[in-house]
Amino acid sequence: MYWNKSYECMPREKLQELQLERLKRMVNRIYHDVPFYRNKFQEKGLLPEDVKSLEDLQKLPFTTKVDLRDNYPYGLFTVPLEQIVRIHASSGTTGKPTVVGYTRNDISMWSELMARCLVAAGAGPHSVIQNAYGYGLFTGGLGVHYGAERLGASIIPISGGNTAKQIMIMQDFGSTVLTCTPSYAIYLAEVLAESGIDPASLKIRAGIFGAEPWSENIRKDIEKKLKIKAYDIYGLSEIMGPGVAIECECQDGLHVWEDHFIPEIIDPVTLKVLPYGEQGELVITTITKEGIPILRYRTRDITTIKAEPCACGRTHLRISRLQGRTDDMLIIRGVNVFPTQIESVLLEIGEVEPHYQLVVRRDGSLDTLEIKVELSEALFSDRISNLENLEKRIRDRIQSTIGVNAKVALVEPKSLPRSEGKSQRVVDLRKI
Ligand SMILES: [Zn+2]
Repeated sequence: MYWNKSYECMPREKLQELQLERLKRMVNRIYHDVPFYRNKFQEKGLLPEDVKSLEDLQKLPFTTKVDLRDNYPYGLFTVPLEQIVRIHASSGTTGKPTVVGYTRNDISMWSELMARCLVAAGAGPHSVIQNAYGYGLFTGGLGVHYGAERLGASIIPISGGNTAKQIMIMQDFGSTVLTCTPSYAIYLAEVLAESGIDPASLKIRAGIFGAEPWSENIRKDIEKKLKIKAYDIYGLSEIMGPGVAIECECQDGLHVWEDHFIPEIIDPVTLKVLPYGEQGELVITTITKEGIPILRYRTRDITTIKAEPCACGRTHLRISRLQGRTDDMLIIRGVNVFPTQIESVLLEIGEVEPHYQLVVRRDGSLDTLEIKVELSEALFSDRISNLENLEKRIRDRIQSTIGVNAKVALVEPKSLPRSEGKSQRVVDLRKI
């Protein structure tokens, strides 16, 4: 099932022709209308005419979150405010947010791409979509909302949090699709279990989860606990919001809508473009956005590009599930550690809950990693010797798969902080 077959299944040669034409137009616009980009081009001695092929994109400058902040709030907009119909912002960890603006065409394009995503995840006009992404400056809520309306589905704009109400609505309104962060989906599953509600009694059949990296094992856990099919969606406000990429029914990588975005993978240290299949930082160029077109945005997300054809028939490249973020990456005694790697190990072992927290300390000049892992209710009352044995098995597995020596601390069920949005997995005490 496709929303827009002629674009989603466009032969690659034709797709690339379209990309090049759109890229040239985009480069021309930012060069002439955005002083920031014109200066960057001039520093490199480049003119818009130097873009003659898609490969030429590699010569062009990057854009970073810092650039967006430096041009706060509207410095990278290419159109005057009277043409902007919506403004979103993403909260930074410090200081000012990054601000993005959408023209009427941008909102229309975003709705189209979100509709494609919803259909790829099996939704249709008959679907009742319970949208538990936050509404507000965050793009999650309204992004899904407009896509669902474009599709003709019934959207329930419940927004995030208020779990008791989420469950009541799910039961009474007959929601068939749930959209939220994966950590909130797990939390909902727990609350359902505590309330003695069998998920099979609900009409929910699919979930579309994103806005934070999650592992294949978390997917299996959500699918088992909620009795649904769980799809991974990718997006970020700097590029558009949710709907930049989504899994199809094959659940083997997320199709990036290449008629609107050009993805590249770079080595985050050398900044060189890596061949398809190699892991690195995802860089995205928007080629149709009007309000704030972005050239080669460094997403900080770590993934690979899969160029093999997909069984679903869509021709757009896929990115693999995110492996983490370059700025979430912990370096423990020279070893790169991503929270998602730890999560995978915990779920493979299977006897603990997928709730954990990584605590990094600096002990003299040595960094230490402590992993707090929640026990399940069943194991909590187990014999001390069994628990010690479990700790040791987790420690050994982390040593053998990730190559880092960690201290493992099993903690009481439900003692780690729960999130109703993005979860805080890492406590880095080295910065203090
Ligand atoms: Zn596919």
